[in-house]
Amino acid sequence: MRYDAIVIGAGPAGTAAAITLGIAGHRVLLVEKSRFPREKLCGEFLTPECRPLLARLGVEERMIGAGAALIEQFNLYAPDGSCLEIPMRWIADGAALGITRGRMDRILLDRAIKVGVEVREDFTIGPSFQMVDGVQMIEGRYSEGPLERFSTTMTIDASGRHGVFSRQIRQEASRLNGARLFGCKVHLERIEGMEGLGELFFFKDGYGGLSDVEDGRSNLCFLTTERTLVEARGDRMKLIDLTVRTNPAGRKRLIDAAMAGEWHGTGPITYGRQQTMSGVLTVGDASAFIDPFTGSGMLLALSSGELAARVIDEHLSTNRRDSPAMIADYQERHRNLFSRRYRAVSLLRRSAFQPAIRQLMVSLLSRQQGLARLITRSTRAASY
Ligand SMILES: Cc1cc2nc3c(=O)[nH]c(=O)nc-3n(C[C@H](O)[C@H](O)[C@H](O)COP(=O)(O)OP(=O)(O)OC[C@H]3O[C@@H](n4cnc5c(N)ncnc54)[C@H](O)[C@@H]3O)c2cc1C
Repeated sequence: MRYDAIVIGAGPAGTAAAITLGIAGHRVLLVEKSRFPREKLCGEFLTPECRPLLARLGVEERMIGAGAALIEQFNLYAPDGSCLEIPMRWIADGAALGITRGRMDRILLDRAIKVGVEVREDFTIGPSFQMVDGVQMIEGRYSEGPLERFSTTMTIDASGRHGVFSRQIRQEASRLNGARLFGCKVHLERIEGMEGLGELFFFKDGYGGLSDVEDGRSNLCFLTTERTLVEARGDRMKLIDLTVRTNPAGRKRLIDAAMAGEWHGTGPITYGRQQTMSGVLTVGDASAFIDPFTGSGMLLALSSGELAARVIDEHLSTNRRDSPAMIADYQERHRNLFSRRYRAVSLLRRSAFQPAIRQLMVSLLSRQQGLARLITRSTRAASY
């Protein structure tokens, strides 16, 4: 059987693409190498701009019904504890959402099944890719199963930062003070006083975000250097002491913090664009990975997945099955929509990683609301 599209990876980018194509009535296979629900290292913070996308995918109400926290304001704390308040209405109408990836990704996957997408979990696609007479051929297998071959008009690589059909180009060093950066995430028992609030704490060797998710828990997710990880010697509470708790506001907030789940780590983190194998369309982190601190990763994943599906749908509905033309069309529209945002986020990240500039920025912007609002908005994408 030939599919209209095969989507690799059931994170937000892959499910957004699969659901949109499924709703449009196309024949879609969505494969995911793990079995859901699975936890994932992520701040689990969805900016308000994600809400209309989630609504179009038909999952916004389900996420709120599943207990997603509603976050109205984000506070940024410089290392000395001075604070810059960012109301979420500066970004878009409605509150931001805090929901675990375990629950969110399961809800998206269930929705894909509901709209007629064929879903295979525990199924890994391999790197082999062939184009025969305009038809794409790829291979994959269940963890214990035999190799299977599939033919499709379009392959969508939504397999994340280590994309199966992509490799990193223009890689930006994920270094702070010369040291490589690693990411850590843990769920804490709900922290008092966080209702409606998200917080970002800068410290000497990185930064960390704190916000509520469902079921009486809060997500603590931070980036820090290899050096600090080594110094903590595997003692997780000590690692929190050496990082987020060195910020006076972080120390106060996390004074009685108790872990309520497994610890997740990843790294070293690298940022940058990926080069895609010719003939494959990439979405989400598989196409580019940006610094997590502006909370844009899932927004860009959802929007690029949806955009890819719309382009494919437009081509297939007018019987244009030429995959290179679809990819060129998608890439041009992607560039027009998102390149300004990538540049703004990259610039902000560089500034935030320079201690003197960062301190100055927080002090200045906390007194200049208009300017703070302008900068916040510059990191957002144009809508389509
Ligand atoms: C420390 C940190 C904190 C972050 N915090 C936030 C935040 O608060 N808010 C935010 O918006 N973003 C955040 N992000 C970014 C966000 O997590 C990503 O941008 C987002 O997950 C990208 O979604 P995706 O669908 O492209 O990829 P992923 O979510 O990575 O999904 C890819 C999927 O593909 C599957 N897969 C991989 N290879 C194969 C294969 N060969 N065959 C089949 N399946 C495969 C994987 O199992 C995975 O489920 C953070 C990132 C980091 C590192």
